[in-house]
Amino acid sequence: MKTVGVVGAGTMGHGIAQVLLRARYRVLLCEISQKLVEAGAERIARGLARDVEKARMTAEERDQALARLKPTTVVSDLAEADLIVEAVTEKFELKAGVFRSLEPHCRPEVIFASNTSSISITRLAATTRRPEKFVGLHFFNPVPVMKLVEVVPGLQTAPETVETAERLATSLGKTPVCVNDFPGFVSNRVLMPMINEAIYCVMEGVADAKGVDAVMKLGMNHPMGPLELADLIGLDVCLDIMKVLYESLRDPKYRPCPLLDKMVNAGWLGRKTGRGFYEYPGK
Ligand code: NAD
Repeated sequence: MKTVGVVGAGTMGHGIAQVLLRARYRVLLCEISQKLVEAGAERIARGLARDVEKARMTAEERDQALARLKPTTVVSDLAEADLIVEAVTEKFELKAGVFRSLEPHCRPEVIFASNTSSISITRLAATTRRPEKFVGLHFFNPVPVMKLVEVVPGLQTAPETVETAERLATSLGKTPVCVNDFPGFVSNRVLMPMINEAIYCVMEGVADAKGVDAVMKLGMNHPMGPLELADLIGLDVCLDIMKVLYESLRDPKYRPCPLLDKMVNAGWLGRKTGRGFYEYPGK
């Protein structure tokens, strides 16, 4: 595999493209507008410049990496890709539409991968004509730093597709962990109820946000408290994932905390809006 397509150049897409370039792949990066694809390419260039500063690559290697990047807004430009990672906004119809538009341009052996955090891989795969060549490839934010990739086979995914996805993740310096296609996979199935429970603790007055975070950092050795982490992820994202767990597993233990709902309704989404469980002046 030499050429990888990445659709979506936001937080995750640009990071995935960056690690692919660092590992010497050619990357075809697709966005919906020239402005967005250029912004993605600039973020990649900044990320690679940091790699040079930190002596993780030479300036020459960075220039070669950037020369292997082809930004585009035209889906058919991804025809040369051997594998395509979709990292567009977390909406089923949008993602299904991306795969529908790619299908006529891609050779039948090309693998389609989705970076979705919560949408069923089996359901997405079933919208394509290649469900056996479809797999979840769940990277973590920030992609250049985080070692984990959850590799998620859908019900119809072929074992060879899983092996190729695992080899790709390993070649990027990541550790693939294969998990089955259930809501939230393992990462969000465990993390989000913990965050949700931390919010219940605040709502019920067990402790304030600082207290809850201090317990989890000092007592459980977590590098960040669950509420600091919730602010970083975005409270709207946390609520969406809790809703997916609650609605798809139909178990009341996943009910989103009413305080989380209330804060999202108020527009207190965490760092990105300047206020969540903590305040971020200047944002
Ligand atoms: P983002 O909003 O930063 O980026 C999404 C990008 O997709 C946007 O730039 C948007 O313009 C682009 N896009 C939308 N429709 C498109 C199309 N048809 N063609 C090309 N580009 C299109 O979102 P993100 O945080 O990067 O999330 C992307 C995916 O990664 C989601 O499925 C999300 O669940 C998943 N994910 C996110 C995180 C995280 O921490 N942010 C972690 C793991 C997985």
